[in-house]
Amino acid sequence: MNYLERDLRAQAEKYKNLFLISEKLHSCMDMETLLEELFVILHENYSDYSYCLFLSFDTHSRENYPIKELEYDSENVAAAKAYALGEVQFEQSITDRNAIIYAPLKGIQGVYGVLQMIARDSVDFPESEIEFITLLAGSVGHAIENAKLYQQSEQLVCNLKLLNEATKQFNSNLKLEEAMSNISQQIQSAFQAEEVGFFVLTDDQLKVKLLPGSTPYFYSKLGQVYIQYFKEKILQEKDSLYFADFRSEMEVGEEFHSIMAVPVYQGQSLKGFSIVMHHKPYFFTFDTYKLLQTLIQHSSLALMNHKLREELNKLVITDYLTKLHSRKYLDEKILHSMKKDKQGTFILIDIDNFKKINDTYGHQVGDEILVQVANVIKANIREKDIGARWGGEELAIYLPMVSLDNGTAIAKRLIKKVEENSNPRVTVSCGVSYWYKDLAHSYQSLFKRADEALYVAKTTGKNRVVAQTDHHEAS
Ligand code: GH3
Ligand code: MG
Ligand code: MG
Repeated sequence: MNYLERDLRAQAEKYKNLFLISEKLHSCMDMETLLEELFVILHENYSDYSYCLFLSFDTHSRENYPIKELEYDSENVAAAKAYALGEVQFEQSITDRNAIIYAPLKGIQGVYGVLQMIARDSVDFPESEIEFITLLAGSVGHAIENAKLYQQSEQLVCNLKLLNEATKQFNSNLKLEEAMSNISQQIQSAFQAEEVGFFVLTDDQLKVKLLPGSTPYFYSKLGQVYIQYFKEKILQEKDSLYFADFRSEMEVGEEFHSIMAVPVYQGQSLKGFSIVMHHKPYFFTFDTYKLLQTLIQHSSLALMNHKLREELNKLVITDYLTKLHSRKYLDEKILHSMKKDKQGTFILIDIDNFKKINDTYGHQVGDEILVQVANVIKANIREKDIGARWGGEELAIYLPMVSLDNGTAIAKRLIKKVEENSNPRVTVSCGVSYWYKDLAHSYQSLFKRADEALYVAKTTGKNRVVAQTDHHEAS
């Protein structure tokens, strides 16, 4: 074999190697393995050289490998030039007796960094290696581009999955509680968020209601401070907020540094917002923030549906005129109480001579009187008592856990208050009935006895209270 032949063969061997290296690099789908692989290759092929990788993007493997961030300062003129022009640059250091090559890591869409190779004890960079290193750097550039695209598409698929899943949740028949806590779970795992909160504003925008699915932190005192702070901020800015390194002006100490807050709008009006937090600064990427915004936009609709449903429910359980509870609601509550309590008192109230009021003043004034009586009832019962419109001009009160005597006293007080507080003045009559657990009173008989007592009140002069006659026996 002559010299030329040997040289050719060595060259062929080298490029075969480069082909294998390229193949290997291109099979690395994540950046860390790719860089690992590259340094193995450099170590195997260029153990006599020093080398360093200048990268224009962030990696996590700085400590283990000679990787630097590409910076445009006077120390790195050649590296920066290679990067900016996408062309190989050379440098000589007479004092260190080094020859240096800077080969750009060039892909199709851009340059991702520069490979610096230092030949020690050389004046010129070895001619035979220039092409190889240039090709190698190009191959690395393409491989980085590949890995980046792959990572991006993976992230995109992940994001789409999350959106798809969330939309499904919102459109399902799940209760809001369940849907929200599922979404919260997804945000926690997909964004690796530590705290996730969902809040609805009251119509006057003064108060904030915490929605299910919010992490427990938001129920704490410190959590409340964050909620108030971001509520004010969002009301001011009318837009989403993204903090990579949040330094609070709050008193609570600087617990969370990465914070995203996204408002929920219905048309022009602010209905609520979401807060996502992590202790570490720079934890959420801007892409994550964009995704959260999209996610919240999707959820807005579901939240609003829920609010409408709640209002509808309230309508069903509230009488539109008197704003007392509906009879349906009263029935439910009495049945519930009869299951769990020991006793209870029921008061049936009927306005005296109401026909005459209507005839004298007109129906509208009649309605006003009804509202007045309802207001007297509301003002004179406790929160757990239930005032209801029984039907027409008949109203009712249920007093859970209250004895017949006490119930009768309450009814007596009430008829006095009605007389004092109505204009035009009206009076009411009351029939009072009572149930007690051990006597196994039925629900129907409770109403029957109240009705009978009311009849007695009406036939014995009106403007009075009559308690059920003493038939406490089971019926
Ligand atoms: P009594 O003292 O025996 O109860 O005499 P009354 O005139 O009140 O007689 P009754 O209870 O039988 O009549 C009820 C009247 O109340 C009949 C109806 O015109 C009137 N009424 C019922 N619902 C309403 C209402 O929503 N608004 C108004 N303005 N009137 C009502
Ligand atoms: Mg009546
Ligand atoms: Mg009446």
